[in-house]
Amino acid sequence: MDLSRFPRRIYTHGETPLEFMPRFTQALGGPQVWIKRDDQLGLTPGGNKTRKLEFLVADALAQGADTLVTCGAPQSNHCRITLAAAVREGLKCRIVIEERVPESFSDEASGNHFMFRLMGVDNIDVVPAGTDMAAAMKRVADELAAVGRKAYIIAGGGSNALGGLGYVACAQELQQQLFDQGVKIDRVVVGSGSSGTHGGLLAGFLGNRINIPIVGIGVSRDPADQDPLVHREAQAVCDLLGIDLTVPREAVLSFGDYWRPKYSVPNRKMVEAVQMLARTEGILLDPVYTGKVMAGLIDLSRKGYFRKDEKILFLHTGGATSLHAYEQVVLGKVPVAD
Ligand SMILES: *Cc1c(COP(=O)(O)O)cnc(C)c1O
Repeated sequence: MDLSRFPRRIYTHGETPLEFMPRFTQALGGPQVWIKRDDQLGLTPGGNKTRKLEFLVADALAQGADTLVTCGAPQSNHCRITLAAAVREGLKCRIVIEERVPESFSDEASGNHFMFRLMGVDNIDVVPAGTDMAAAMKRVADELAAVGRKAYIIAGGGSNALGGLGYVACAQELQQQLFDQGVKIDRVVVGSGSSGTHGGLLAGFLGNRINIPIVGIGVSRDPADQDPLVHREAQAVCDLLGIDLTVPREAVLSFGDYWRPKYSVPNRKMVEAVQMLARTEGILLDPVYTGKVMAGLIDLSRKGYFRKDEKILFLHTGGATSLHAYEQVVLGKVPVAD
């Protein structure tokens, strides 16, 4: 699939590593687990949002914007990376935070919130759970327009058709890497939230005829709600690319058993997963996304859903910055939900 007609900023030099994890595999007792290190993407520190922002920020610049406006939860990686991109481009950045868990926003918070302040966010608006975020961002854009500035609104998680191109690019990078390293992967495990990553990757796999099933692990929704979002995102990406492809419903698969009790709220399996990867491979996961996704990979392996002779690829989407806001939790010093 040819992405070259879309303006793009480059925030990462080269490809992210594709590695086998021998000690983690051994501790798990199979399957063989590989990892793609999208936690090593560019932008302070990077993660999956970096790939989406390469296309979104290029579009903002083409439209002559001077301020990026986006939204997320109090420990949003997406907001941090968007702010970092804005700083790199000499733009300003306004963030709207949805307090999805009441009282969870604190101006003294560590992790991503600390980075919002350190990198000089223009302003943070905090709104209650359930707020219409698109309308809230539009209000910020109107406020800026009234004083002669020009906002570019980036959807939550950077997940629209244009942002999804970042994961088409990732699919193509991965396809080449698998070929170069002579590795054959049976299934890919990816976190599924605002869906740009899962949906974009799926569009990239279908469009490039990569016949590896993608297993999504929901971080905030069960499959009944998540799968239609992913399907819509994958189709929107294909349509934007102008490829004549109808995304089959069956190509979308996710599990919803690992995100409870609530988005961003810790559970026991997440703590085990974060500790296990840190202590076998020295790789940091995060409590909100990748810890729960890896908990899914571990559980599905133990249950035999992934067979011992399979090769599974875990897509590491980043997020370790928020570990610092959950230190005692991931050390197992604080009781968490089951
Ligand atoms: C945003 C995020 C996800 C989820 O990706 P979506 O594209 O929103 O589905 C997964 N992992 C991390 C670390 C994230 O920040």
